[in-house]
Amino acid sequence: MSIPYLSFEKINTDVRSELTPAFEKIIDSKWYILGESVKSFEQSYALFNKTQYCIGVANGLDALILSLKVLKIGQGDEVIVPSNTYIATWLAVSSVGATPIPVEPRINTYNINPDLIEEKITPHTKAIMPVHLYGQACEMDALMRIAHKHCLYVIEDNAQSQGATYNGKLTGSFGNINATSYYPGKNLGAYGDGGAITTDDTDLDKRARMLRNYGSEKKYYNIEKGMNSRLDELQAALLSVKLKHLNLWNEERKRLAAIYDQELKGISDLILPVTAVNATHVYHIYSIRTSRRNELQEYLNSKEIGTLIHYPVPPHLQNAYYELGYNKGAFPNAELIAETCLSLPLYPGLQESDMHEIINNIKYFFKQ
Ligand SMILES: *Cc1c(COP(=O)(O)O)cnc(C)c1O
Repeated sequence: MSIPYLSFEKINTDVRSELTPAFEKIIDSKWYILGESVKSFEQSYALFNKTQYCIGVANGLDALILSLKVLKIGQGDEVIVPSNTYIATWLAVSSVGATPIPVEPRINTYNINPDLIEEKITPHTKAIMPVHLYGQACEMDALMRIAHKHCLYVIEDNAQSQGATYNGKLTGSFGNINATSYYPGKNLGAYGDGGAITTDDTDLDKRARMLRNYGSEKKYYNIEKGMNSRLDELQAALLSVKLKHLNLWNEERKRLAAIYDQELKGISDLILPVTAVNATHVYHIYSIRTSRRNELQEYLNSKEIGTLIHYPVPPHLQNAYYELGYNKGAFPNAELIAETCLSLPLYPGLQESDMHEIINNIKYFFKQ
């Protein structure tokens, strides 16, 4: 019996009956871009995320790029990013002509270590871009304190952590302007690409709406060189339906993660995820670490258990960032995580019997 890394089976079943009427409404509206469906989803997501505004865009990378553009960050500026993240975080900074300045994560939570940020701040630093990696909130109190002290913007990369909190406050509501992704596999995923920006600032909201739509507020009158980056009506309708289930799906993810935590603890050479004090984790990814990672992945694969590696190569060692001149050893924590991490299946609908098969296979592997 095979167990996939990810399955949309239950999520689709939960929403299927609501989708046809939602899609038909849009077909019949005869208005397919920036209509009522996007507007309504933006309001619902802002309400969910407890921010004043939400601006739907084409994908998570664009949400990050637009956030930087809205703040007029560009050529010559520096933005602090984690050394271990999906490459999109770095790409957004490079796309606007700014330089990503990597800061190492804590080795137990995998989130950016606030104690290492200040030494990287220069007169060129404009913003800190924390990533709530794998679904766990970063240490936002310490981070916001540093940002205020040095007059830096904060742009949260909230792609993996919709619904997570730090001290009870939702990720995506701390920064001046924040980005999220509705890539299908994210905790709130579309049937295609999608993303959003969240902010409490009226002026930033206005600029984001202008820049996502060709730099225009009035059709055919262009204030700035903007982008075409809009969430479409069909994805917005789907996301509105799914959003109503998100808290329950996140609760299920937490419940399943607790089973892994309980059953896998005590195996030597197996490191389980750690949640920081005051943070919550919505387990977009359940990532374990072991020095025998490749061997374990192969073994599970031979038992038809799907796993993934998030991520095998840290951004500073990617060919795409050759020009920054970082060598192996430049960011040891990011490199160690890349060499040892393995993501186990975890999604709403994952059966406990399947989890026990995964757990038993892992236990058996470590007995060898
Ligand atoms: C998925 C992801 C993005 C990019 O989102 P897309 O919608 O794929 O463009 C950015 N940052 C992180 C941390 C992500 O996981």
